[in-house]
Amino acid sequence: MRRVTIFGATGSIGQNTIDLIARAPNDYKVVAVTGGQNIAQLAKDAIALGAEIAVTADENRLSELRDALAGHDIAVAAGPTALCEAAARPADWIMSSIVGSAGLEPGLIALEQGTQLALANKESMVCAGALMKDTAARHGADILPVDSEHSAVFQALLGENIAEVERIVITASGGAFRDWPMEALARATPEEAATHPNWDMGQRITIDSASLFNKALELIETHEFFDVTPDQIEAIIHPESLIHALVGFRDGALMAHVGPPDMRHAIGFALHYPERRHLPVDRLDLAQIATLSFRPPDEARHPALRLAREVMQAGGLAGCAFNAAKETALDGFIARRIGFLDMAAIVEEVLDRLSSKAGQIDAAMTLDNVLALDHLARQEAVHAMDRKQQQG
Ligand code: NAD
Ligand code: MG
Repeated sequence: MRRVTIFGATGSIGQNTIDLIARAPNDYKVVAVTGGQNIAQLAKDAIALGAEIAVTADENRLSELRDALAGHDIAVAAGPTALCEAAARPADWIMSSIVGSAGLEPGLIALEQGTQLALANKESMVCAGALMKDTAARHGADILPVDSEHSAVFQALLGENIAEVERIVITASGGAFRDWPMEALARATPEEAATHPNWDMGQRITIDSASLFNKALELIETHEFFDVTPDQIEAIIHPESLIHALVGFRDGALMAHVGPPDMRHAIGFALHYPERRHLPVDRLDLAQIATLSFRPPDEARHPALRLAREVMQAGGLAGCAFNAAKETALDGFIARRIGFLDMAAIVEEVLDRLSSKAGQIDAAMTLDNVLALDHLARQEAVHAMDRKQQQG
């Protein structure tokens, strides 16, 4: 029996992970499940999976969780410290699917246990890639990518030599607004941005798909995960979302990973790695698909991609500042404080401000420095949004 823990169990990735685990109950012993505000879902899953402990990130919801689990032999806890304690419970496989940089510390603690960490939480790679990799190396832990593009690259690289890789091509659906005229983007609402043409995902990543901030994070994630240089990484708009990524080798061969837009493939691959087991995902009918289309992304329309390149070139803690500013600007857009196009402007302003200050993005990559810069970048983003609102 493999001991498994699921961080962010109540979210989109978490629920897909539970779907796979629940199909083979005799194969797994569930250690911890964690969630946020959706206490009913967390309690339901903890009971169904027979988890040892259920943890909500929200300290104020502890008694509600306790009530929901009354009569069951399941421990309860709440708050960020409790999340870190849950990460320290021995487990063979841990799904990291909290959204945002809140996933970083539990992920690092999980790696310190020498576990296999299935990483959906791309933000932890973006804001502290070197720290994640060093921690994994020191403790003999594995980080397995769950982001569909990175799982695709990982699979295309099996048995290959990374030194023979010329380029990595990451596909992007283009998100909700891919066919909207530029003029309309300024007035786009959070509801419109939160509708994805192909994938069913959490609200935040869906809006990030429309702004291409998700792709921007993924370019940085590719740079961190596979140790390729920024100029080896390309993004291409592929509206069908069937090819998830391609790896080009120095002999000109291009290996594509093709599959339906169903995260259970990437999650299941990471769950069973290095084996491949049967997965309940649709099989593609190529004759029915008939055509696949591609077009280059328009960087004028999507400044997030340009910013990602600047972040990769800057290195250091630039990814941390970028992600924290993006998360805060996204909060501002969801709360209707700023417009859709303002998000990139806010992130750029924060990066400019922090780059001009010594000891910020050029500070050493320690957890303390990452957390301090994450905090500072969020404050700077709030101030930038305040200035924008004052300007009207
Ligand atoms: P989601 O919003 O559906 O779920 C997020 C989960 O994190 C929930 O369980 C929520 O309770 C928890 N959470 C939120 N804020 C938290 C906090 N501050 N502390 C602790 N827990 C918190 O998100 P999702 O779509 O499942 O995405 C999760 C992660 O996976 C993200 O990093 C996302 O970029 C990545 N990802 C998602 C998909 C997808 O298909 N949904 C695909 C690729 C990568
Ligand atoms: Mg992805």
